[in-house]
Amino acid sequence: MTPLIELAGIRKRYPGGEQDVEVLHGIDLRIDAGEFVAIMGSSGSGKSTLMHILGCLDRASDGQYRFAGRDVSELDHQELAWLRREMFGFVFQSYHLIGTASAWENVALPAIYAGLSREERRERARHLLTDLGLGERLDHRPNQLSGGQQQRVSIARALMNGGRVILADEPTGALDSASGEAVMAQLQSLADQGHTVIVITHDAEVAAHADRVVELHDGDILSDTRRRPSRATPEAAPETLSPPRESALPEFGEVAEAVVMALRSLRANWLRTLLTLLGIVIGVGAVVVMLAIGQGAKEDVVARIGDMGTDLLVIRPDRGQRRVSDGVIATLVPADAEALREVPNVRLAVPEISGSVTARSQGRDITTSVKAVSSDYPALRDWQAVNGIFFSQQDQDRYAPVAVIGQTVRENLFGDADPLGQFVLLDSIPFQVIGVMGEQGATNWGDDQDDVVFVPLSTGTLRLFGQNYLRSITLAVNDVENIDATEQAAVELLTQRHGTEDVRVFNMASLLDMVSDTQNTLTMLLGSIAAISLLVGGIGVMNIMLVSVTERIHEIGIRMATGARQRNILQQFLTEAVVVSALGGLIGVALGVAVGLLLRLIGLPILFSAPVAVAAFLCAAVIGLVFGFAPALKAARLNPVEALSNE
Ligand code: ADP
Ligand code: MG
Repeated sequence: MTPLIELAGIRKRYPGGEQDVEVLHGIDLRIDAGEFVAIMGSSGSGKSTLMHILGCLDRASDGQYRFAGRDVSELDHQELAWLRREMFGFVFQSYHLIGTASAWENVALPAIYAGLSREERRERARHLLTDLGLGERLDHRPNQLSGGQQQRVSIARALMNGGRVILADEPTGALDSASGEAVMAQLQSLADQGHTVIVITHDAEVAAHADRVVELHDGDILSDTRRRPSRATPEAAPETLSPPRESALPEFGEVAEAVVMALRSLRANWLRTLLTLLGIVIGVGAVVVMLAIGQGAKEDVVARIGDMGTDLLVIRPDRGQRRVSDGVIATLVPADAEALREVPNVRLAVPEISGSVTARSQGRDITTSVKAVSSDYPALRDWQAVNGIFFSQQDQDRYAPVAVIGQTVRENLFGDADPLGQFVLLDSIPFQVIGVMGEQGATNWGDDQDDVVFVPLSTGTLRLFGQNYLRSITLAVNDVENIDATEQAAVELLTQRHGTEDVRVFNMASLLDMVSDTQNTLTMLLGSIAAISLLVGGIGVMNIMLVSVTERIHEIGIRMATGARQRNILQQFLTEAVVVSALGGLIGVALGVAVGLLLRLIGLPILFSAPVAVAAFLCAAVIGLVFGFAPALKAARLNPVEALSNE
C-alpha cells in the first residue's frame, strides 16, 4: 500500500552567517494514513521545521517528500495550496487566529478558499464549534476567548475542509494542564475517527497519548517506538493524488467574497481608510470641477462669439491704403457690396458707414453714433424695429431722409413721447423718424448698441458724410462649412475690382476656432493639474496598501496555511485597493458635482460632462488597480512560514 507520508533523506538548511546551518540532517520517515504519531524532541531539535515541511508550508533543502505517492517538489504553488486546503489541518502552539475575525469566521476561513458559500461555511463552522463545546462563542473574537478555547477554535478550523491529516505543533504548549488534557483528548478522538494525527511536542506525557512516538534529536531521528498497534487504514490513503487543474481566473463568488473582506478590513481601519479616500476624493473631485470650469468658460466665450454671428465675414479697408480725409480710407464703395451679393454662398452683403453726430429734437441735444446702412441690415443682425419700420430699398433708392433710432436715443431725445413721425436733426439735417429698434443691450466690450441712429446708406453718404467710402461690408453666408472659400472668392472679386488687394477680412468662424482652441488648452491645463492630484491620491493608496500588507503579514501567513492560493491573497489586497479607490472615485464625483453646483450658484459658467465624471471614476479605480498591484504582489509572494512567524 502507498504510504501517506514518506520522507527520504530530508535535509533543511537555513542560511546563516558564513555558512548555512543544517537543522535537519536527512530524515527518513514513513507515516501511514490513519496513524496517530507524536514527534518528540527538546526545544530546537527541528520539530517545527519538520512539521512545516510535512505540511508543505516550507520546502526541504534536500531529499524527497512523497505525499500519497506524489513527489511534492513537483507541485506548483496552486497545487501546494490545494494540498494545504484539502489534506492538512494545522494546529499551532500560538493558535494563529485572525484577531479581527470572530470565532466562526476563523473556523470558516479554509472553506472560503474551497469555494463554500457563506451560509454553508457558517453552518459547518457552527456545527464544528458546537461539537467542541464552543456553541455559545461563535461571534467572540479570539481576544475574548481563553487559551484553551482559542486552541479549540483552531482545531475546528483544521477540520473545516475535512482535515485528513492534522498537524499539531505543541498544541498544549501555551495551555494549563487541564486545557491541555482536553485538547489532547480531542486529538485522540479525531484519531479514533480515522484522521491521521501528527502531534509535535517536547513533553513525554503529551506524546504518551499517541500510538507511536518518533524521537528527534538535533535534526536526527533517535528512536521510533510503537506503543499501541497501528490503526493504519490503507483505504484512508487517497488513491492517486490529483489536485484539480484550476483556471487562473477568479470566479465571481471569489471576487464578491474579496469585496466583502475588503470592506471589512477597511472598516476596521476606518480613519486610515478615510484619509486614503480623501486623496482620491480630492483628485477625482478636482478633475470633475476643473474640467467643468474649463468647459463652462469655453462654452461661454464661444456662445458670446456665436452671438455676434459665426456666419459673418466682415470686410474692412486695409489700413495701408490711400486716405481721403478724417481717417477715411478710400477703398470700399457701395457698388462693391452690390457686386459681392453675386458671389456664391453670400446671403447678404451689408455696406456700412458710421460716424458720430449731434442729434437734436424737441429742444434736446445729444451726441450719438449714426450708421448709414442698406435696408437688409435687420436681417444681418437679426435685429428688428419694434415700433414703426426699418427703411426699405425704396427709401434707399429715393435718398429718403428717414431715420430709425435705437432705444437709448429714443429715451434721451423723446422720453415718453411717441417718436414716430417726429423730425430729428442730425448735424442740422432733418430726418424723419420712421422706426424704433428693439432693445439690444451692451456689446461684450460694453458699448451701448442702442445708442444709434440708422439712416439709408444713400442718404447718409450724400447728406451726412459727404463721401461714399465704406467703413465695412459685412457678408452673411448660407453655408458656414464653405465660409473660407467664400472669403477667398470675395477677396478675389474685390482685388479684381480695385486692381489691388486693399481689404482685410475678419472671419468670425475662424476667430471662434482660435478662441475655442485657446480655451481647450486652458481646460487641458486645469485637467492635468487635477490629474496630478489624482496621481498623488494613487500614491497614497499604494502607500497605505504597503502599510496594510506589512501589518497583516501574520494574517497572510494564516490564510496561506489554511489553503489560500497566491491568487487569493493577490486578489484580496488588490480588491482592497480598488474598493478604496472606487469608493473615493464615487465620493469624488459627488463632491466635484456639489462644488460645481455651488460655483454655478455664485455665477461661474460651469459645464458638467458625464463622460468626464465616468472617466475620472474609472481612472480612480484603475489607479487603485495599478498602485495596489505592487503591494498585493508583495503579499502574495510571502513565504507561508515566514509570514506565520511574523506576529
Ligand atoms: P523546535 O520546533 O524543535 O523547537 P525548530 O524547528 O523551530 O525547533 O528550529 C530548529 C533549529 O532551526 C533552531 O536552532 C532554530 O534556531 C533554527 N531555525 C528555525 N527556523 C529558522 C529560520 N527561519 N532561519 C534560521 N534558523 C532557523
Ligand atoms: Mg517548535
